[in-house]
Amino acid sequence: MCRLILEPVILIIKTFIQVARDIARTVCEWVTRTIRTVREVVEKICKSLPWPLSLLCNFVTKVIEVIENITEWVCREVIDRIFEWVQVVMEYIYYIARWVCWLITWITVRWIEYLLCRAGIEVSKNIRICVKVLSENISNKKTGAVTIQPAATNAELNAMLNQVSAVFRQCNINIIVESIDIIGHPEFLRTTTCDFGNTFSSFWVTFSREACSSKNLFPVITVYVVEKMTNAGGCAFPGTDWIITNNPANSRSGLPLSAGNTIVQEIGHLCDLFAHSSDPNNVMTDQPGGTSDQLDEHQCCIIRSSRFVTFG
Ligand SMILES: [Zn+2]
Repeated sequence: MCRLILEPVILIIKTFIQVARDIARTVCEWVTRTIRTVREVVEKICKSLPWPLSLLCNFVTKVIEVIENITEWVCREVIDRIFEWVQVVMEYIYYIARWVCWLITWITVRWIEYLLCRAGIEVSKNIRICVKVLSENISNKKTGAVTIQPAATNAELNAMLNQVSAVFRQCNINIIVESIDIIGHPEFLRTTTCDFGNTFSSFWVTFSREACSSKNLFPVITVYVVEKMTNAGGCAFPGTDWIITNNPANSRSGLPLSAGNTIVQEIGHLCDLFAHSSDPNNVMTDQPGGTSDQLDEHQCCIIRSSRFVTFG
């Protein structure tokens, strides 16, 4: 509920700042152009004036030229910079505002829903996801033909998503796959890192910006499929609407989780299951040697009461 109000407000503020920035740019251009025209006119007049008036006139031209340069510099280096800075600062403020929403939701309604769930009321709910598969272009050295190589094949994706559905069925949650798209971003195919310090890093900003928007007001979790991550099998950054998973077929690191289970674990993290389980059969585990596909009642109820899980 809180997010339903907050997100449109953020969108309005973002649009407002962008429009103000565009207006400032236009005004700046107009002012510099006007000053330039004035200078050109004065220059022409100067030529027709006799000495010593022409000398004075040339001095005036010089003054106008200085004003022209200063205006240009202020427009480019000061005003535009300030807007850019405001936009970056606002991103941090939105991030904090979303966490405030999270707290308000827990205090007002979520604890009730959690308790009802623990009491055994588990009617069917949904999680919407959209899948974005990173890819790179591979050119054949002999023929020169370029083919797109995604981080996972269709068969691999299907296997992952079937596993995700199977695990969430334990909590009476259905997975609705809104879309599967192959996107580019080869620069992030093997370079993403799972570390809280990467919040606001280049891939974090890109993945946040390109995450799927909510569908008919229902939240959507974006699953970015990469070939491999530098230090993990998957990752969820607290406070975002997206996760990263690797394609285990591409990594030889002997990770304890299959990709489907990795996606479930990362979604679990997004839904406030922050800690890992020591039980290797639990899907939230970080221990090898088990099935890593089980969710217990507490975990189900935390996930079910989160904002990503809806009745519609
Ligand atoms: Zn984890």
